[in-house]
Amino acid sequence: MNLESFPKHGRFGEFGGKYVPETLNAALTELEDFYEKAKKDKRFQARLRYLFAEYAGRPTPLYLAENLTKKYGGAKIYLKREDLLHGGAHKINNAIGQALLAKSMGKERIIAETGAGQHGVATAMACAALGLKCEVYMGAEDMERQRLNVVRMKILGARVNPVLSGTKTLKDAINEALRDWVTNVNTTHYLIGSVVGPHPFPMIVRDFQSVIGKEIKRQSLSKLGRLPEAVVACVGGGSNAAGSFYPFIDSQVRLVGVEAGGLGLSSGKHAASLSAGEPGVIHGMKTFVMQDADGQISTTHSVSAGLDYPGVGPEHSFWKDIKRVEYTIATDGQAVDALLELSELEGIIPALESSHALYIATTIASKMPSRKSLVVTLSGRGDKDVDIVMQQPQVASKLGTNS
Ligand SMILES: *Cc1c(COP(=O)(O)O)cnc(C)c1O
Repeated sequence: MNLESFPKHGRFGEFGGKYVPETLNAALTELEDFYEKAKKDKRFQARLRYLFAEYAGRPTPLYLAENLTKKYGGAKIYLKREDLLHGGAHKINNAIGQALLAKSMGKERIIAETGAGQHGVATAMACAALGLKCEVYMGAEDMERQRLNVVRMKILGARVNPVLSGTKTLKDAINEALRDWVTNVNTTHYLIGSVVGPHPFPMIVRDFQSVIGKEIKRQSLSKLGRLPEAVVACVGGGSNAAGSFYPFIDSQVRLVGVEAGGLGLSSGKHAASLSAGEPGVIHGMKTFVMQDADGQISTTHSVSAGLDYPGVGPEHSFWKDIKRVEYTIATDGQAVDALLELSELEGIIPALESSHALYIATTIASKMPSRKSLVVTLSGRGDKDVDIVMQQPQVASKLGTNS
């Protein structure tokens, strides 16, 4: 299977595309043309490598979790430590890449939207580092819930624009950011935070995040003398998973994406677009979407804010369609259990998002022989999640916070 040539005309099979107003079409084409040049530009690539290494902290370790491996008694479990990056998650890979691209295009103003605030913070960091002006749209409701990230963005010099329309959450912030971009497209780059949106964003973000999978490949070859048997990653919009999987697409390596199962698929309270959604159009792309019978976007639920998105990157829809990647879910409770387990066994508090992947990784590893190896991408660290974790009933009793 040779997928190197994708996307063709901005499509991954039937998915992807550019479902946008006419006014944005020219900007998307300009971005695509410029990106194709930057890809071949040695100076751009050297600058990107420099920032990845010296600013973001790459390469990240591929760590053998010996205690976790021993507990499950199967395949060796390796952790790809994106949690050790500047900012505490993989998001900086994409923020730095796109900010550098915008700067090279002569665009000095960056806009972004953020739900939980993590992408807003990564964007504010990248903009400060590269001397770009940064404005972040955030639902007023989300600003209330994520006050710490709002403060971080402000300290980093970004302007945070509260969005008061609709449900005052992520999808309203996306609409505001798109409106801003239509108006200011000549001076402004819209820095999208995952492998979502109209072409060429899913491709560009995947490429910047593919540094994860390329490192996994190189590090496995040097540590194991071969590729791992499986790679597992969590899927919100799908950027850390796409970056982990893409360099392995043409190989035999088993690839598993894990979505937020929330309170279980039958409860309807989840964010599993691939596992329980239907093809539809959202935010400028055709992809699997959580929607009702009338095609209205459903409300989502997950214990982890970073997975709480009703759509998914179109390339994942394609990989599901051609059965190259398996997609499954972990529930809120399973993710919390996995977070506690890794913390106790390895001294690493993973993000709740990553904990979904961890839960499935241990399940899969336990059924594999001990001479095999599996890599799970730890997309971020869990410091941001400790309040939510403490509120879970199973944790409150276990950690004695009731007493
Ligand atoms: C934002 C986030 C995610 C989800 O985003 P993807 O685009 O699916 O990678 C996962 N993990 C962490 C730590 C995040 O901050």
